[in-house]
Amino acid sequence: MTAAGEESEMKRIGLLGGMSWESTVTYYQMINEAVKRRLGGLHSAELVLYSVDFAEIEKCQAEGDWERSGEILGEAAAALERAGAEMILICTNTMHKVAPQIQANIQVPLVHIAEATADELNRRGIRRAALLGTKYTMTQDFYKAKLVDAGIEVLVPDEADMETVNDVIYQELCLGEIRAESKEKFLAIIRRLESQGAEGVILGCTEIGLLVKQEDVELPVFDTTLIHGEKAVEMALE
Ligand code: GLU
Repeated sequence: MTAAGEESEMKRIGLLGGMSWESTVTYYQMINEAVKRRLGGLHSAELVLYSVDFAEIEKCQAEGDWERSGEILGEAAAALERAGAEMILICTNTMHKVAPQIQANIQVPLVHIAEATADELNRRGIRRAALLGTKYTMTQDFYKAKLVDAGIEVLVPDEADMETVNDVIYQELCLGEIRAESKEKFLAIIRRLESQGAEGVILGCTEIGLLVKQEDVELPVFDTTLIHGEKAVEMALE
């Protein structure tokens, strides 16, 4: 057991959250649980959180003003660094679109959510994975390229299913609404992707884990929130 007053050897994790705060709650909880599991007793994570106003970020997305969102998040990341963060997690898959812009504003490493996910897929031997996320994550290259570069083939839903997934994320999950009928829709979409050869499904949006869990699905589920948080804990304690 650690003596009272002993300096912590854990690295300080910086969470760039609020996108949406519904999933930042999951990060905060699972990171603390993972530290407790590893260190026991009263141990909890050394972390700092900067939670942004998601309405402002979503407006930038809708207007295609990624530059502006990168500035806002770059400044928030620098504030986390000033608060002693030794690594930073952008607590959303979508906003990794501006990861290079954020990284350029800080000295400490960004723990990339798609890289952590690709490592986990490879560790579990998955070669073809279904990807569910926002329309930006499912259609653009900033995210999928990380998976493809790691040797993973990515399957995305058809246009109608993509719209369903995207609408449920922004109109329900990011507002804390968890609906049984939306869960059924997601499970049907996952089954369609499985019939196209998916060997696993990536919950590539940090709120999807609030709706769909491993016990609901036969395919191996890769919840990016949990994978990202675990990766940070591993780095904090190594
Ligand atoms: N949290 C979501 C994600 O992981 C969507 C919210 C956002 O647009 O950042 O992509």
